[in-house]
Amino acid sequence: MTDLQKNREEILSDIAKAASTYGRNARDITLMAVSKTHPFQAMEELFACGQLVFGENRVQEAQEKLPSGRPQGMRIHLIGHLQTNKAKKALELFDAIDSVDSLKLALKLESLACKSLPILLELKTAPEESKSGFEDEHALFQALETISSFNKVSVKGLMTIGPLAGSETEIRKAFALLRTTAERAKQRFPELDFSTLSMGMSSDYRYAIAEGSTLIRVGTRLFGPREG
Ligand SMILES: *Cc1c(COP(=O)(O)O)cnc(C)c1O
Repeated sequence: MTDLQKNREEILSDIAKAASTYGRNARDITLMAVSKTHPFQAMEELFACGQLVFGENRVQEAQEKLPSGRPQGMRIHLIGHLQTNKAKKALELFDAIDSVDSLKLALKLESLACKSLPILLELKTAPEESKSGFEDEHALFQALETISSFNKVSVKGLMTIGPLAGSETEIRKAFALLRTTAERAKQRFPELDFSTLSMGMSSDYRYAIAEGSTLIRVGTRLFGPREG
């Protein structure tokens, strides 16, 4: 086993531990390997030991490093802000867009996609951080009124980035907000799927598991620190 594969095993056993601590089933929690800044070879190395889902945050980087054909079963999601003028490229490169943060972007994706496109809607759950995402539940639901009639863009759930420097209480409060928002969204839009909750990164995935995360996005703890 390589160091990378060992790191993955450690994280998986940590996920299993957290799941049992919080009364969750580890099978309901998927590990996404956030491979931004790392070469495709590192992704292949992880894929070889069973890592299927990867996250990239920039269209341009993905365009430069991903080969045109990729191993069957490898799934690469976009997890960073997407400008509408790069939507077409993103559709060619990614299997899912996990960071849809405006109705404008969703409309663009719907108009360009030629097959079903899984998406997550990104919500700001810690308003003091300046980052992308729908501002609040009201803005999210307003966009969903339109998105719910789309044929290709297919909602799978919600995504958030927790407060990067916060206490356990603050971080868990943000993650709990994503969960309760998904519950209310399901009541309001029962025809849509809100089962995926993408929350938790290297430093806070245990809290995210406690609050119901089904998809944790781990970069640093898996690959080591990023340069630059
Ligand atoms: C980089 C990134 C991650 C992974 O962060 P780590 O702290 O390195 O685990 C997760 N989610 C998003 C949206 C990111 O951009």
